[in-house]
This record gives sequence, C-alpha cells and structure tokens, in this order.
Amino acid sequence: MPDISLFWHRRDLRIQDNLGLAAARKSGLPVVGFFCFDRHILDRLPALDRRLGFIHHHLKSVQHEYSQSGGGLIAASGQPLQALKATIAELREAGHNVVAVHANRDYAPYPVQRDADVAAWCGSAGVAFELHEDHVIMPPESVLKDDGTPYTVFTPYSKKWHRVLEAMPTSPLTSADPLASGSWAEVQSNDIPTLESLGFDTESGNPEGWVAFDHPLKAETVQEYAEMRDTPSAKGTTRMSLHLRFGTVSVRSLTRFGMKHSDKWLTELIWREFYQAILHHFPHSASDAFRAKYDRIPWRHDEPGFAAWCEGRTGYPMVDAGMRELNATGFMHNRVRMVVASFLCKHLLIDWRWGERYFAEKLLDYELASNVGGWQWASGSGCDAAPYFRVFNPESQMKKFDPKGVYVKRWVPEWGTPQYAAPIVEHKMARQRAIDTYKAALAGA
Ligand SMILES: Cc1cc2nc3c(=O)[nH]c(=O)nc-3n(C[C@H](O)[C@H](O)[C@H](O)COP(=O)(O)OP(=O)(O)OC[C@H]3O[C@@H](n4cnc5c(N)ncnc54)[C@H](O)[C@@H]3O)c2cc1C
Repeated sequence: MPDISLFWHRRDLRIQDNLGLAAARKSGLPVVGFFCFDRHILDRLPALDRRLGFIHHHLKSVQHEYSQSGGGLIAASGQPLQALKATIAELREAGHNVVAVHANRDYAPYPVQRDADVAAWCGSAGVAFELHEDHVIMPPESVLKDDGTPYTVFTPYSKKWHRVLEAMPTSPLTSADPLASGSWAEVQSNDIPTLESLGFDTESGNPEGWVAFDHPLKAETVQEYAEMRDTPSAKGTTRMSLHLRFGTVSVRSLTRFGMKHSDKWLTELIWREFYQAILHHFPHSASDAFRAKYDRIPWRHDEPGFAAWCEGRTGYPMVDAGMRELNATGFMHNRVRMVVASFLCKHLLIDWRWGERYFAEKLLDYELASNVGGWQWASGSGCDAAPYFRVFNPESQMKKFDPKGVYVKRWVPEWGTPQYAAPIVEHKMARQRAIDTYKAALAGA
C-alpha cells in the first residue's frame, strides 16, 4: 500500500502560495487535500451565514484546482478529529496509507486545543503531524522583547517586527509554489457536502452576500490609503480582511504589496499580527479584560439601549449608519467600528463583550484576535488601549470624517427629517457618567 500524506486546509482556502501545502508536497510523499466543516463551529451559526457560504464557495474553487492539476481533495463534516480519523481509515480501505498530516498553524485558543488533540492522536496512531506557519509573516514567538516576553504595546512591537524581518537570513516574504515540486496522491475528490445538507440556507452561498469585500486590490487604493482610510463614504480601504480571514489571499503577497506602496497600510497588516500574538500569549483576553482591573467596571445591563444600538436607532447618525451598514452587508468601516464600539462601552456603559459577540455574529471578516483587540481598545481595557477618559464624541467624529453626511445618508435615509430617532442618551451626561464610573472602578482596584 503506497504511503501518502494529507494536507488539511483550514483557514487557508487556496493552493497558490500555501506554505503548508508546499511543504507537504516537498516532503516527497504524494499528497491528498482535506477539509472538514467543523460542527463545533457550524452548530453555533445561524442557518443563513454568509461566512459559511464564502468558505463553501472557495472550497469548491480549491477542489477544482486540485482536480485540474491531477489531485483530489476530500471534504468532510463533523468534529474535526473524528472526521480526520474516519477519512484516514477510508483512505486506508481504498489502498492509501496516510503516514503524515500537514496543516498551517492557527494561533487562537480553540484551534490550538484542536491541534493539540490531533497531535496526540497522530502520535498514538504512528502518523506524523506537522504544522507550518502561513497565516502571518511573524508567528507569535518570533517577535518578543529582548527579555523573551511578549510585547503588549504596538509601537515597539512593530519596530521589532521590522528588525526581526531584516535580520532573517531567509525572507519570510517569499511566496511558495506548491505545484513546483512533489506530486498528488491518486485519490479522487469527493462531493463537497451541500449547504443544505450542512443545515444552512442556500442563500448563504450567494456571492452577492459578500459584495462588500468584492474589491480587487489596487495599487491606487493602497497608495492613497493614508489620505483616504478614514473616510467611510469612500472605498478608501482595501477590504482584504475577509480574504485574510479565510486565506483566499496570501499574507505574503499583501505584505510585499504594502512594502511597495504604503507604510501606513503595512502598519495595519502588522496590527493584525500584533493582535494574533496578543491573543496567543494572553488567551484569557478573549473573554476577560486584558487589564484585570477593568473587569470591575459596573456595566449597565441595558437591554433596550443594546437593542437600539444593534438596530441602528440610537439617534447618533454615525453610530446608526455603522450598525445599519453592518447589518446589511457584514462589513463596517474601521473608523466607524471605533465610533460604535466606543459609544456602546462609554455612552451606554454596556459591557464590551456584548458588542464583541454582536460583531462576531454579523461581521463577515470576524476574527477573534482582531475583534477582541478592537473592542478592548475601545473600552479601554486592552493591552494598548485608548485611555478611559478619552470618550469619542460621535457628532464630532461625523463632522471630521463624514462632514457632508454622505456615508450617513447612505445608511440612514431619514436622517435630518422628523422621522429620525432622538438621541437615546445625552452626550455630555453620558461622557461624564462614563468617566466617573471608570474612575471610581479603577480607583477601587
Ligand atoms: C471594534 C473593532 C472590531 C474589529 N473587528 C475585526 C474583526 O473581527 N476582524 C478583522 O479582520 N478586523 C477587525 N477590526 C479591525 C479593522 O476594523 C478591520 O480589519 C478593517 O476595517 C477591515 O477593512 P479593510 O480590509 O478594508 O482594512 P484595511 O484598512 O485595508 O487594512 C488592511 C488589513 O489590515 C488589517 N487591519 C486593519 N486595521 C486593523 C486593526 N485595527 N486591527 C487588526 N487588523 C487590522 C486587516 O487584516 C485588514 O484587512 C476591528 C476593529 C475594531 C475597532
């Protein structure tokens, strides 16, 4: 029976420049592709979920690419370890002996645990399990302070990121071509489970659902990024977040693009790596305040206020426009994410975790590390957060970043008419209440 290796795609839905796949092919064993619709994740999603549709759509393309180049990709669904074991057993029955499993490493708490379980089983079954670094340029352990501890402030992290890159003998920015060496196992692809059979509405797979991200990366967008990035009415940012989330583009190609065209944009890609490193080194920060004393804040259990925020009817146009954009498209501009998050935590004094969960449900580009990082930044509780007494004024934010109301009018057509909601909270009072509440809670720590 021929020995083969299995490459497990997770958040890397591409063949091109897939480092783990390239390593698997280079190892000399013929390779079969594998993907598992993870029930642990799927069971928490609503029946209409465009992220699942996006994954499904791109998995089909990847499987097609496998077939075009003479290979096969097996798609399964279930608990990942069980599905992997079952696939390896079926392959064995069909005359293929899987002796190695390769995958790209994910740094968040759940995948780390999943991979530890897989590694333990592989160890007991005599199957090699190899993880590769593909999702970031600098894995969490690569950028540490001189004393070996993780950075918790962005600017020194970013400087070190550059220094480490310069000092590396082999550039981690080089792309890999998995098809340049090695071979595919003689295994045919199976049918990918349909969205319906996975328990999802077929509308989840309608590509119009992710039109907000259908935005080819243009040199001009990146060159003009520094001037345009804070204008929510324009498509002044690249909308690469969904593609980075599921690996439909390679971070190496984007980083090289940033290095060529815009330091400012490159810095945003480094923020992404910073937050992944923070979550990896401080996994408690997914649910607890990074700075523990911020968990003493007596958040208001304001359900009507939260509902008004979710539905975009707070009476603050920039907040309402952002929430309606999110609800309609699954995207929200970064500047507006900051405004709505600050409004929830400071003006309404609602726990950042409520907002983080709502974003997790709605954002197509939802990614735990960046989402928690963004929310903890806005609430003041994060590692490199805005000071608690700096309370964004949503009206001034609008004057500065949407002075003609172009963005607001797009999402809140009734703005400026008597039909528009009155503010649910008065700014001056809310600002002072937030400062006083934070101050008292932190002083008591
Ligand atoms: C409260 C809050 C929640 C957020 N939740 C998420 C999330 O769930 N997923 C997510 O990918 N981003 C999140 N962000 C970061 C940021 O808003 C988005 O990455 C960005 O808006 C995506 O649009 P873009 O691709 O056009 O970004 P661009 O401005 O073109 O930036 C390019 C890439 O850099 C990365 N990036 C940019 N800004 C940030 C940032 N502040 N932190 C980390 N990475 C960044 C993203 O991968 C992005 O695609 C959040 C920010 C805030 C304030």
